[in-house]
Order: sequence, then C-alpha cells, then structure tokens
Amino acid sequence: MYERQAIGGRGYGALATSPIKAGTLVLRSNSVAAIPLDPRITCAYCFTPSSLRCSRCKFLHYCSRRCQQADWFMHGAECKYIANYNSNHENGPKPTPTVLLVARLLRVPNPPKSSEYAHNLELHSLDAIACYRDMSELVLQILSASRFIHSYSIHDIVLLFAMLNCNAFTVSTLELVPVGIGFYPRATLFNHSCLPNCIATFDGRNIEVRTLCHIELGQELTISYIELIQTRATRQKELASSYFFNCTCLRCQGLNNWVEKEEWLSALRCQDTCCKGLVKPNIATNFFGCGNCGALRDSHDINLMEHQMDSAIAMSNSAERLNKLPEAISHRCQAMSIAKRLYNPLHAKYISNAETLANLIMSTKNSESLDSKQVTIAIEMFQEALNGLSWLYGDILVPMKGLTTLKYARTLYQNSPKQKQNAMENIKEACCLLTITHGENSFLVKQAVDMLHEMQR
Ligand SMILES: [Zn+2]
Ligand SMILES: [Zn+2]
Ligand SMILES: [Zn+2]
Ligand SMILES: [Zn+2]
Repeated sequence: MYERQAIGGRGYGALATSPIKAGTLVLRSNSVAAIPLDPRITCAYCFTPSSLRCSRCKFLHYCSRRCQQADWFMHGAECKYIANYNSNHENGPKPTPTVLLVARLLRVPNPPKSSEYAHNLELHSLDAIACYRDMSELVLQILSASRFIHSYSIHDIVLLFAMLNCNAFTVSTLELVPVGIGFYPRATLFNHSCLPNCIATFDGRNIEVRTLCHIELGQELTISYIELIQTRATRQKELASSYFFNCTCLRCQGLNNWVEKEEWLSALRCQDTCCKGLVKPNIATNFFGCGNCGALRDSHDINLMEHQMDSAIAMSNSAERLNKLPEAISHRCQAMSIAKRLYNPLHAKYISNAETLANLIMSTKNSESLDSKQVTIAIEMFQEALNGLSWLYGDILVPMKGLTTLKYARTLYQNSPKQKQNAMENIKEACCLLTITHGENSFLVKQAVDMLHEMQR
C-alpha cells in the first residue's frame, strides 16, 4: 500500500503506492520494547490495568501470570537492579521509564542502530545531553547487574536516548490515555502533519495505523506527533524543541482558510459581554482591541487572568494525579470560568479545557460523586468541545473526534432520558467515526453498537 521513499529535503517518508480507502489498517506492529509510564497500575506487558506485583522487585506489575512470564525475558535483567535499588532505601538515581526502555532495547536480539534513525544529537541542548549521559551510566549498571555481556560505550547509549527522544511512541489506551512508551521501528517511517491523514492507536502492545481519509497514489501518509488543538506558534515551538524540525504542512503554511482559523484559536473575547467581537492580540504592539467595537482589553488584566487559569489547571492536574477527583474537578471548573471570561469559545485553551473538564466529570473514578449538576456541566462541555472541533476541521476527520462524540453520546444516554434522539444520532456518528479511526472490531465500536441496540429496544 505504501513504501519508504525519499521526500525532497525532509529525509524519508511513507508514500502511497496505490489509492487507499479511508479507515484502512496500513500497519499493525508489535513493539520491539515497551515499558509502562506508571508500573504500579499498568501491566508491563499488555498495558491493561494490573493487579499482580513482581514479588522480587515489587516494582513492575502484571495483569496475569501469562503476561509476567511473557515479559520475563526483558524484566529478568532489570528486576535484580530494581530489587537492590529498593532494598538500599532508594540510593542512587531512580530507574525511570525511559532508562528501563533503553536497557530493554539493548537486550533485544537485534537492537536498533541509532544511525538508522534520526537522532539529532547535535541539536539537543547541553543539559539534555548531560542528562542522557547520567541515564546511560544507569543503563550500564542495570546491564551489569544482570551480567549481560555487551560492548556498548556511554556514547552509543547517549545516541540511543537521543534517537528515542525523536522516535519513541507514547502507548495509549483506546480512550487515548497515555500508559507507556515503546519503540516501533516500522511506525517511525510516518512523518508528522498538523492535518494528518492517518492515526496511530494501540491495541495492547501493538501499534495500529489507519487512514483517516481517502489517500491518492503517491500521497504521503502522515500522523500527528503532538496535540492538535493548539495555535501554530505553540505547535511549531513544540515540534522544534522535541523533534527538531519546522512543520511545513498545509495548516502551518496557512492554506485553505487556516490563517483565519489560527487567528481564532488565539483570539480573546470582547470585554463587553454583549459584544460578539473578537480581540486578536497584537503581541508586537501589546494592543488588545476588539475588532467590532474597538473596546480595549487591559494587557495587565489578561496576564493576570491567564496566570490564575494556569495555576488552577496545575492544581487540577496534581489533584488528578493523587486521584482526588472532586478537587481536580473543582479546580478545572475554576479554570473554565476564567476561560469563559477571557477567550472566545474557539480559542485553543477554551476547547481543550472544555474537553478535559467533561472527561474528568465523566471519568469512572468520579462515578460515586457524580450528580445531576455535574452531568449538566459535562454535557455542555462536550458540546463546546465538539463545536470547536467541527468549526476547526469541518468534514476533515481528526483523531479525537470519534472518541469525544462517543463520550458525549454516552453521557446523554446514561443521564438524560429526554435527549434520547440526540444521543442516538451521536452514537451513530461515533460508530462511523470510530470504525475509521479504531477499526470495526475495536472495543469502542462494539460499545457504541451495544448502546445503540439497547436504545432501539
Ligand atoms: Zn497483561
Ligand atoms: Zn521484578
Ligand atoms: Zn504543521
Ligand atoms: Zn467589542
């Protein structure tokens, strides 16, 4: 369906060797090595929730004996080091997921050669390189604790860290929650676009890449490496600092209305709550005037509000990490009320805040404290997020859309009997979108179909 070809001045990419229909699975591939982000809650082999703890190191967890046995070839080596590390009362540098991933990669039968992938070591900051060096020392300690014979130098391992920085994938659940990091050599061929025509999802340890739309012969297949509901400046900055390239996709070039849409993504709302005008910040002149009535927004005020919103978001995130959902939700609500006074509803931060708040409220972890007031907020927030996505992308299918539609429909279905018709329409829509993004056999599609059947009964 596609092959590796040189792309003018941009290295290699995946080019279609025939037309490809939307929703086609173009790659399914197991990881060479992978490791969970939080080994206490995620199975180190299949990335589902875990319950069994490795009795020796008490660090990695598994969902079953089968997964533990399957992972032992890899874990056997690191287990001894981690067990020692834990019994010595946490002396020395901590083995982070990235360190463990590199130690695992070096032990596979044919370890990846950093020379065959982009590593851009020369572009990394001195701080980053110093950090890679410390982590490489640790990798060598892990290898020698397991008496693994090798001829790797510190520099070889530093190169591998730099290579993984540009090429590793974040493994996520079907609902796109990050749970691990892994190396998938065949998937590294797909380049980035801020308007990707493919999506990468994960089925346990396997990566799956599907086309989001019809692809013509000779067209490049692309995925997105970053969050897409962000302004051009933020995306460019993130891509340059993490992946070392300037994106020149259609969207970044500002073709097809994208200049205007990017402006909306960063536009504030007018100070006058009755005015529908937009305030497009002029950073150079520090001028924040409404395009409709001319009213000025005070730049000091804006900075203060943004600062308050960012700290509410930070507090919400840390409460969420501690599993304190009611607290996380209350801080997110606070962030959202500031966003409503500050941004137009198509602002990138407005859309992402709305989506996050709705997800927090409808999270299974919040099911015990869920009340009708919260459900009303979640429904409104899902609507806001979907409005934003539809306005921004129109008919272009983006990775998040199917999932958000499904969550919205599920919330309506379970909590709002009056909106049955609306719920059904959204479930049907979610079914179509998820069949393309996740495949017809995906658990998410089955869930949507079951919901639909239940409603039609
Ligand atoms: Zn498992
Ligand atoms: Zn262990
Ligand atoms: Zn771009
Ligand atoms: Zn105005």
